[in-house]
Amino acid sequence: MAVQRTLSIIKPDATRRNLTGAINQRFEEKGLRIVAQKRMWLTDEQAKQFYAVHAERPFYGELVDFMTSGPVVVQVLQGEDAVAKNREIMGATNPANADDGTIRKDFAESIEANSVHGSDSEDNAKIEVAFFFSETEIVG
Ligand code: ADP
Ligand code: MG
Repeated sequence: MAVQRTLSIIKPDATRRNLTGAINQRFEEKGLRIVAQKRMWLTDEQAKQFYAVHAERPFYGELVDFMTSGPVVVQVLQGEDAVAKNREIMGATNPANADDGTIRKDFAESIEANSVHGSDSEDNAKIEVAFFFSETEIVG
């Protein structure tokens, strides 16, 4: 294992319910460091581009609408095996299938409004981190 960085997004359903701190606590207590973080309201263009990989999926339009429905917090998490560790902390995409103690089990409203995004591979993590942050904004 090696120290990695991964992109996390606290989604609009979670910022609306004031859960940023509660979610950040999950990352920190499980050993991930928040080495960059900013709150922003994604434009339609940004959300479409970020989720372009899902453009052919039937839920793409609704997903873009949801991700632009309120503020998000984009962040870089750093730690040992951070990509897989964050996916574990997040839980399954559908909260109905998420393990106990995961963010999605405890906080998600639905399969769409599932509180957090996390990169799914080290390669995608690099692409997604660079989508939102310059190297000088990341302080490890
Ligand atoms: P994950 O976020 O767990 O990596 P995906 O990459 O498959 O999941 O999907 C991206 C996002 O699209 C999900 O987090 C969720 O917000 C939304 N989504 C996924 N599947 C569905 C679905 N069947 N219906 C509505 N929204 C979905
Ligand atoms: Mg994904």
